[in-house]
Amino acid sequence: MTLGTLQAQDFTNQLMEQYPNFKQSGIEHRRFKHSDLLVHLDRLPAMGFEVTQLGESYQGRSIHLVSIGHGSQTVLLWSQMHGNEATATMAMLDIFNYLGQSEAESVAQLLDRLTLYFIPMLNPDGAELFQRRTSQDIDMNRDALSLQCPESRLLKEVRDRLQADFGFNLHDQNIYYNVGSSAKSATISFLAPAYNIDKEVNPQRANAMKIIALMNEGLQTIIPGQVGRYDDTFEPRAFGDNMQKWGTSTILIESGGLVNDPEKQFIRPSFQVLWPLAINSITGKTSRAIGTFPLMIVT
Ligand SMILES: [Zn+2]
Repeated sequence: MTLGTLQAQDFTNQLMEQYPNFKQSGIEHRRFKHSDLLVHLDRLPAMGFEVTQLGESYQGRSIHLVSIGHGSQTVLLWSQMHGNEATATMAMLDIFNYLGQSEAESVAQLLDRLTLYFIPMLNPDGAELFQRRTSQDIDMNRDALSLQCPESRLLKEVRDRLQADFGFNLHDQNIYYNVGSSAKSATISFLAPAYNIDKEVNPQRANAMKIIALMNEGLQTIIPGQVGRYDDTFEPRAFGDNMQKWGTSTILIESGGLVNDPEKQFIRPSFQVLWPLAINSITGKTSRAIGTFPLMIVT
């Protein structure tokens, strides 16, 4: 099964049907801690993943790199740079099950073409207190150049070592943001960050935009009208903007709000759609024209 033969909507529906098979049980609330995560990382080597410790947080909690695949294209995904933004970390546990347990030929093909690197919970000290900032009281997403936090330095070192082709910067946003002038909340929002003040589009940024276009197409199937995009004003201190500048095609994904979903357990499976779509787009199984980006700016 490839997107060459399937529409994004059909692919989305198939992924959603399969989701219960891959959902990681045991973490159903956003306020889980570093020790809760470690239990799940421990079982990954038996599923074909490599797990290495990158280093430690300011308070000495371990930060890990989880990898799978043996392809030449590299993808780096990091979550919970802000300690109280846990949705993508939960979703990573689900995608680990999908990548490690699925017997689908399409998954094997993807892992032949790509190597995927995940950093779940980049700010474990913040997660412990369920706070945005690090234990040094620094917003890590404004620390890409000054690198005051050990956690920021680890992320920069990994990117430089891997020279990652693609990067996914995974956050949660205010649940009260709406899509454009509509009354609908922005459940998932995207940004292909600018790499300069003129917001120019180079090949890296164009690739990020193409991937977002495909992810949007799939998401509209399950959350119609609730996909937004962020203002792309250049932020010189942010990681996403600098990753783009350093040569990694970078995509910001923000998990937002959905009525009656305080623990984000409905948003969580939408990642089961996002990542396979993104991966298919990266491996060239489908392509979308640049410029077809109909999303409303999140307000
Ligand atoms: Zn954030």
